[in-house]
Amino acid sequence: MPAATSAVSGSVSDNSALSALYGLDEPAIAATLKDLDVGEKQLRMRTAQLWNWTYVRGARDFSQMSNISKDLRNRFATRLTLNRPEIVSEQISNDGTRKWLLRFPLRPGEKTPAEAETVYIPEESRGTLCLSSQVGCTLNCTFCHTGTQKLVRNLTSAEIVGQILVARDRLNDWRSAGKAPEQRLITNIVMMGMGEPLYNFDEVKCALLIASHGEGLSISKRRITLSTSGVVPLIESVGSEIGVRLAISLHGVTDEVRDILVPINRKYPIADLMNACRNYPGLSNAKRITFEYVMLKGINDSPADARGLVALLKGIPSKINLIPFNPWPGSPYACSDWESIERFSDIVAQAGYASPVRAPRGRDIMAACGQLKSDSERLKAKDRLALQSDV
Ligand code: SAH
Ligand code: SF4
Repeated sequence: MPAATSAVSGSVSDNSALSALYGLDEPAIAATLKDLDVGEKQLRMRTAQLWNWTYVRGARDFSQMSNISKDLRNRFATRLTLNRPEIVSEQISNDGTRKWLLRFPLRPGEKTPAEAETVYIPEESRGTLCLSSQVGCTLNCTFCHTGTQKLVRNLTSAEIVGQILVARDRLNDWRSAGKAPEQRLITNIVMMGMGEPLYNFDEVKCALLIASHGEGLSISKRRITLSTSGVVPLIESVGSEIGVRLAISLHGVTDEVRDILVPINRKYPIADLMNACRNYPGLSNAKRITFEYVMLKGINDSPADARGLVALLKGIPSKINLIPFNPWPGSPYACSDWESIERFSDIVAQAGYASPVRAPRGRDIMAACGQLKSDSERLKAKDRLALQSDV
């Protein structure tokens, strides 16, 4: 049972005339201010002030912005809002992992608001926030709970950044709450929640560039990891346009097995995926690619699979992350037994790879890898198809 579950009332912007300030990059903020008749000469300074209040001090209301005149604050408030997504529930696991179910403001044409989950995982030397990029997923990896929820829609950059702000609010992780940068709880971000981030490239890119901006949330790109199931044509752009670390959901070492576990493999088979990894911009021993490998009993956990994995990764600076399968209601697989995981891990370790077994976190609140799912209703088939094109 979850250690604690509570409903928390958050604020939601239900006024569709207002845009969330926090999804906008600097040029978009400047353009909005220009529309609000802020003089050309003031644009940079005002944009910087808004940026600082939003991302350094965690302001939730324009009235807090004491170095901006009341008249100007009122003008901002006619177009922009700092309201957060609504927190539908907050669960805290026995191991300290927290999961929030967030509800986003209705978007044009939507009958029910979209909902997605965000997870915070505290560890001794860091705290990782796991963000969702979509509500549901178009891909149907057979071991993943999210994959059983049809895609509802892509999240906007504001909805992705909003997840970070909510987590900082709830963890009291703002400088205004007395936290110096080195005391921050959220030190790392992983795009490993619901959805395939590369099927929502532009919004994810905008959100991650905001998250890593040195004068704002300031989470270093070295501490941000984007995980993909293998959308090969966009992998290069993750390195060249976003510059964050890459993780690949590999899970199988032959096309035969991976075609079933990660069906996008039928479109972009292993050889193409490995080529894209070899060519990943900035790849080096200091900036390795993480290969995620879920351990499924009798499916992909034999010594031959381990040797196959080592052979595949030859020449690619990599880390291997072995993930014990996290079960969910109705899942067709079982987690490998501990001996198989150890035997597998020994083989890859002997080949020179660090192969930490990822300790399952937050299983009691269904917050572990692949367990996330919300009940949002899906889009009409036509709109969903329009979102599925990947380049
Ligand atoms: N769609 C992207 C981002 C989600 S990351 C991707 O697939 O990479 C979520 C990670 O958890 C992926 O590596 C995924 O393969 C893994 N995962 C999914 N379901 C899981 C489960 N039931 N147990 C353990 N890991 C799982
Ligand atoms: Fe989608 Fe990733 Fe789950 Fe596959 S593992 S269904 S790509 S979220």
